Amino acid sequence: MITLKLHNTMTKAKAAFEPTDPKRVTMYVCGPTVYSRPHIGNARPALVFDVLFRLLRHLYGEEHVVYARNITDIDDKINAASQESGRSISDITKEMADIYRSDMAELGVLPPTHEPHATAHISEIIAMIKTLINSGNAYEADGHVLFNVPGFDDYGNLSHRNRHDLIAGARVDVAPYKKDPADFVLWKPSTEDLPGWESPWGRGRPGWHIECSAMIEKHLGKTIDIHGGGHDLIFPHHENEIAQSRCSHGGVDLARVWMHNGFLTMDKDKMSKSIGNIVTVHELTKTHSGETIRFAMLSAHYRQPLDWSEELLAQAKKTLDRMYGTLENLSEIALPAGAEPSEAFIAALSDDVNTPKALAELSALCKAANTATSDVERAKLKGHLATSGALLGLLQNDPSAWLKGDGNDDQEIDALVEARKIARANKDFTESDRIRDDLTARGITLEDGADGTKWRRGL
Ligand code: AMP
Ligand code: ZN
Repeated sequence: MITLKLHNTMTKAKAAFEPTDPKRVTMYVCGPTVYSRPHIGNARPALVFDVLFRLLRHLYGEEHVVYARNITDIDDKINAASQESGRSISDITKEMADIYRSDMAELGVLPPTHEPHATAHISEIIAMIKTLINSGNAYEADGHVLFNVPGFDDYGNLSHRNRHDLIAGARVDVAPYKKDPADFVLWKPSTEDLPGWESPWGRGRPGWHIECSAMIEKHLGKTIDIHGGGHDLIFPHHENEIAQSRCSHGGVDLARVWMHNGFLTMDKDKMSKSIGNIVTVHELTKTHSGETIRFAMLSAHYRQPLDWSEELLAQAKKTLDRMYGTLENLSEIALPAGAEPSEAFIAALSDDVNTPKALAELSALCKAANTATSDVERAKLKGHLATSGALLGLLQNDPSAWLKGDGNDDQEIDALVEARKIARANKDFTESDRIRDDLTARGITLEDGADGTKWRRGL
């Protein structure tokens, strides 16, 4: 059996991955703050950890992997968006969370096992803050509750920062009520015009970091196997999550492995809303299929920076066309029962989720299939291609439909039909109508029947 090796930000090294309990492998990834549409940089962690989720399910069994990716639906940026637009906070967060889900579905990202919302965990957050106050790790000051950083010796271990760097970093805004410049907010007061909940410290709202600590404990436990997110979250967000969770759990580790994806850049600058150099997933999917975007994203190793460009997308589309061409040539060959990904492919993905190496292996399989002469060999290669592709969330469409190039892939349409079903079950008819209109615009007809919704190409 091939060993899965993962790079751990904490140790700065790649090591064999061993879950605490192979029958319950746990992973948490910090999800979006829902105040605007996700850009393609925001999609990078969702996609990278989706591949790891698929790989873990392959290695440990589907029912043995529990993956939580949260929705941050309380945040000052959301409050500002509401004040600017005059729309209610819940309208904005609901719409943006729906859009995030359907955008990710279009990129072939599987729904995580749990998608906890911060606002649904206020009582857990308050309970954790109380524990931290009782243990002397937090203190109340001026309506705020702050975490006492000097009381936690391991602070800075994840980001490999020392106290001097920390103080220099925190000096930018040192509020007068902080005992130490590095102390951070667990709870803050809300004025009447801001969302707030009653608490022992008055009406207020949680800080961002404590939300993740509380949701991780509730859905996954005290020590989880893998914690992921973008590189920008290492400090202060993940450093603070560790401080809060460990101090409220008697010191046990929060995560065994910490994984961080590199930045997606545009002309070498990090793509970010504050710089303004963003391309939304919504815009991209108007001109490129979800699968092409996914392929482009996976063409770089997750820890490396990835410069996003139209050339990158064009190259991805060209390679996919070639691969689907191979599959089309194999269309007369039956998929063998019990097909498995090739060993070289699993070895590549197991080497710290090396997707460029895994994609190279897909190309090698195609090349071998194009030249193979025996049907037995071609069937074996077709099986490898279908199952290896599935682990990357690629090559699952009908080759002839792909090559016809109507721009729709089956996986994407299935995901949208499913998202519409969920919206209808939640009586969110604005969202379900929006999805139907989107599908109509793509030339897809929906037929609602007693046994669910069927779709077909053509209007
Ligand atoms: P946010 O909604 O800003 O909290 O970001 C959600 C996720 O996207 C976090 O894990 C960020 O680290 C990640 N992220 C944001 N911008 C980029 C980028 N340009 N490249 C890669 N990841 C990013
Ligand atoms: Zn988090």
